[in-house]
Amino acid sequence: MYYISTRGKAPKLNFSDVLLIGLAEDGGLYVPEYHPQITESDLRRFQKMEYVDIAFEIIKPYVGECIPDNDLKSMINDSYSDFSHKDVAPVIKVEDNIYVCELFHGPTIAFKDFALQLLGRLFDFVLAQKNRKITIVGATSGDTGSAAIEACKNRESINIFMLHPLGRTSDVQRFQMTTVDADNVFNIAIKGTFDDCQDLVKDLFNDKPVRKKLNLSAVNSINWARIMAQIVYYFYSASRVGVPDNKVSFCVPTGNFGNVLAGYFAMKMGLPVDQFMVASNSNDILTRFLINKDMSINGVVETHSPSMDIQISSNFERLAFESTNRDAEKINEAMVEFRKTGKMPLPDGMWEKINKKFQGMSINNDKTLKAIKKWKEEKGIIFDPHSAIGLEAGCKMKTSSPVIVMATAHPAKFPEVLKKAIGEKVEVPEHMSDIFKKQEKYDVLENNYEDLLEYINSRLK
Ligand SMILES: *Cc1c(COP(=O)(O)O)cnc(C)c1O
Repeated sequence: MYYISTRGKAPKLNFSDVLLIGLAEDGGLYVPEYHPQITESDLRRFQKMEYVDIAFEIIKPYVGECIPDNDLKSMINDSYSDFSHKDVAPVIKVEDNIYVCELFHGPTIAFKDFALQLLGRLFDFVLAQKNRKITIVGATSGDTGSAAIEACKNRESINIFMLHPLGRTSDVQRFQMTTVDADNVFNIAIKGTFDDCQDLVKDLFNDKPVRKKLNLSAVNSINWARIMAQIVYYFYSASRVGVPDNKVSFCVPTGNFGNVLAGYFAMKMGLPVDQFMVASNSNDILTRFLINKDMSINGVVETHSPSMDIQISSNFERLAFESTNRDAEKINEAMVEFRKTGKMPLPDGMWEKINKKFQGMSINNDKTLKAIKKWKEEKGIIFDPHSAIGLEAGCKMKTSSPVIVMATAHPAKFPEVLKKAIGEKVEVPEHMSDIFKKQEKYDVLENNYEDLLEYINSRLK
């Protein structure tokens, strides 16, 4: 299996190289050259298989010849062995035709663990093969950072620098990042928004000499391997609600578009999906796009669901690429213009194609709090604000197939919001109970490229 860039001007690479490089040299994102196919009889077998065994079958064709089967199998098994639920991604019925796939049983209690636990191990394996070291730089609105740090801490071949927007993550999220005591972990709070952090990271990657010197690598959802790992739970959850005997729809609380994009790739592999719902908070660029046919950036506003306080959904580029029949030239034009003006010129026919499969809905703070309260009072289930947005939008989907809502975080991760919604907070799971007793370690930097570069250079000696 080889990978090509959505902008068409970067070299074709195999899985190991795509894993290490993250963003393509031409500013594009890597996608697999073709979509491996899962058949109806595979889907039928999946109904009785465990999570990790399905994972191996989905992931293997994407890895190709880069990693021997046995090694891949044991990395997959290790990645999910620490999850606190035996089903890894349990699927529960919450109402007629509405199901929830719980993606928060990993070590940092948000869905990012699904991809990053595997990514840390893949990095280690491939770097050892190549006898190399890398510098990972990432931007996080909260959950990516903790999951990435947890997955990379104390790994010999990796130094990790994680940028978060100062004061805009929840306390639990920040403590999960800043209390990890490891020599290879550097936390940086940027005076700015998540998009500012993401832009700084992109600037680093676009600075070719720096990129080469530092051996830069990304763990953000621009990294193909993250999407790949997330495809698995679409197959797994669908297999629990009757697929292939019926179609299924998914509702996904969305920020950077990585999660729902994995669902789209699952569909491309043969999963029978009726509709996707892209659920967002008041940062609603995708909803506006789907409803008004207009992709233009407004300012980022802070909400009760900070992991979705994003305006530029990087992974949308991969969907745009697929939805223009892989017209790299058009994508390049559109993305350059989008970056320059904040408004994306839409290639002919792209919106129509996307609109056939995707619905969008934006849920504001007030409705989020009400949804959390309603589910608690009516069903006794407590959802985190991101998942509550998913439930609210999922229940309004126009579809006749079962709807699976992706529950992306454990409610204990957002105690301040839970207190507002239901007047009580939710205890963190046992394995995290001492988190607030630990010492925090992070540095604050201005939203400035030179400052960041100097910081990284000085820490890498
Ligand atoms: C990261 C995150 C999201 C958004 O996922 P994307 O892949 O960026 O769309 C939603 N909810 C939670 C809890 C998250 O951590």
